[in-house]
Formats: sequence, structure tokens, C-alpha cells
Amino acid sequence: MIKALFSAGDHVWPEYAQALPDAFHAKGLTIDLSRAHAPDTVDYIIAAPNGPVKDFSPYTSCKAVLNLWAGVEDIVSNETLTQPLARMVDPGLTDGMVEWVVGHALRHHLGMDAHILGQDGVWRTDFPPLAQERPVTILGLGALGAACAQMLATLGFPVTGWSRSQKTIQGVACLSGDAGLIDALSGAEIVVLLLPLTDATTNILNTKTLSLLANGAFIINPGRGPLIDDTALIAALEANIAHATLDVFRTEPLPQNHPFWKHPQVTVTPHIASTTRARTAAMCIAENIRRGEAGEPFLHLVDRAQGY
Ligand code: NAP
Repeated sequence: MIKALFSAGDHVWPEYAQALPDAFHAKGLTIDLSRAHAPDTVDYIIAAPNGPVKDFSPYTSCKAVLNLWAGVEDIVSNETLTQPLARMVDPGLTDGMVEWVVGHALRHHLGMDAHILGQDGVWRTDFPPLAQERPVTILGLGALGAACAQMLATLGFPVTGWSRSQKTIQGVACLSGDAGLIDALSGAEIVVLLLPLTDATTNILNTKTLSLLANGAFIINPGRGPLIDDTALIAALEANIAHATLDVFRTEPLPQNHPFWKHPQVTVTPHIASTTRARTAAMCIAENIRRGEAGEPFLHLVDRAQGY
């Protein structure tokens, strides 16, 4: 029988202990799922980067490590992990991210804070512009960025997206490469970061690139904290950046004394933009195991050289 080892935090085990067998059954797979198989008997490891397995070398029969998270920066450089590594592309995770990004984009676009936080007796009659007058740029057009770009475009925003390889997405102006980044950021009024954290993307928003954004621009970062140079951002909040909504940070939880907590132009959310949903994620894992057993290529394999 196929043996799958579950290596993730205790708190997520109950929901996966229910969802994974259901998904295996739906795919016609008979799998012995456990948190404690003998390493040399394991066929697949279902892993979160913060799970108990740190040394993958004893798992000599393991055909693939199936990551429970979309982000792989904490696992991709593990030198003991020589098996194929697949990242999580989960429709539930994507839906959650689209909702969070659209919600925060609309908050800024509509100027909701003036009315929600104001409540000061001032009758403010300024009308916000229409979405079609508010250029939005999404850095990263993968599973999450592309879905957010499409939803924002559906709402009428002129959306520009930027990725490493050139993409074609209906209703989205797709750019790539170094010159594409300059064009994507120049004059953008809302910028959403949905890039993975790699050497190439660290500090991609820095003094120079932040200065390209429109006056009064909003930044929304559900990607990873080090995508933004924090010091440059704090300086830019006194120049052209009106507000930054940050879900991810260099150190998490964000330390109590970090200036972001009290900064009036920063909104801190505690890495809750979206999460892997057990029911839909279990189907993705089951599909990859089905593929492995059928000799078909795994979905969503991580490119170790690129780091994502
Ligand atoms: P993905 O499918 O791997 O997409 C990544 C995108 O970034 C791709 O379009 C890729 O370009 C682009 N990219 C990577 N390196 C680049 C570079 N050097 N220059 C330009 N573009 C580059 O990843 P995803 O599933 O959309 O997830 C994105 C990130 O979201 C994750 O890595 C994770 O950090 C973050 N995340 C956060 C939360 C949260 O709750 N805050 C939840 C889930 C995920 P190509 O298309 O050309 O490869």
C-alpha cells in the first residue's frame, strides 16, 4: 500500500486527517496516511516548511515532497531534500487571496478610512474616481497574482502585471523583464506584491522603484516581507506613498517595537491574507499522488535554480 507521511503542525492535523482520506478516496487511491511511518517506507511526504521533518535524507523511497504552502523559501534550499518538490496551488488559497487583495484595494480606492475612521462631524463630499481611472500594478502573475489581476480588471481597474516570463492574460497588460518592471511601476496608484521571495525579488521595492509610483500611491503586500526595503518604505511614506497595507514582514510576528505598528500610514495584518484550505488542498495533493503512481509528471514542481 502507498504510504504518505504527514509532516506539519499539530494544529492542522485534525482537518487534514479528515480531508486527505476523503480526497484519496475520490481519486481512487488507497493510502496509509500517518504522522509516524518508518522513513525508508514512505512514498510521499506531505510537508509544511515548519513541520517536524527537517532531514529528508532517510526517506530513501520517497517519490515526492508535497508542500502544503504556496511559499517555499524556507524549504527550497534544504540540501537533504533531493526528491521532487511540489508547491501548493489550492483554489481555496487563491480565492482567499483574491478576496483579501480586492478588499484592501477597494478600501484605498474608495477612501473608506476617511468615513470609517473620521466620524468627526465633517461632511466630506469628495467622490472617489472610478476604478477605470485608478491604475493598478501586480508584481507576480502566478497562481495568486494572475487571479487577483483578473478580478481587479473585472472591476474595471486598468491592471498591469509583471512576471519573469512573458504572460498573456485577457484584460491585463502583461510585462516582463527589467524594463518591464520600470514601466509596470511608473505612475501606478495601487501596487500589489505577489512575488515569491528569492534572491532576485528581495528588496524589489526600494528607494528607486518606490519613487516611480504615483503621488498618493498605495502598496499592498501579501507576498513576503523582504520584497520591500522597510527603511526605504518608511522614507517613501513621507514622499509619494500614501499608505502601505502589509501582511508579511521580515520578522514574524512583527516585533512590538517595530515602527510599522504605530505608523499612521501603515496597516499591519498578521499574515492572514490567505491560507491553504484543507478540503481543496487535499484534492491537489491527491491529484499529485495519483500522477506519481500513474507515471505522469507532477504538477507545480519547484524550480530549484529559480528558488520558487
Ligand atoms: P507562483 O505561482 O510561483 O507565482 C510567482 C510569480 O512571480 C510568477 O508569475 C513568477 O514569474 C513571478 N516571479 C518570480 N520571480 C520573479 C522575478 N525575479 N521577476 C519577475 N517575476 C518573478 O506563486 P503564487 O502561488 O502566486 O504565490 C506567490 C507568493 O504569495 C508566494 O510565494 C508566497 O510568498 C505568497 N503567499 C502569501 C500568503 C499570505 O497569506 N500572505 C499566502 C500564500 C502565498 P513566472 O510566471 O515567469 O514564473
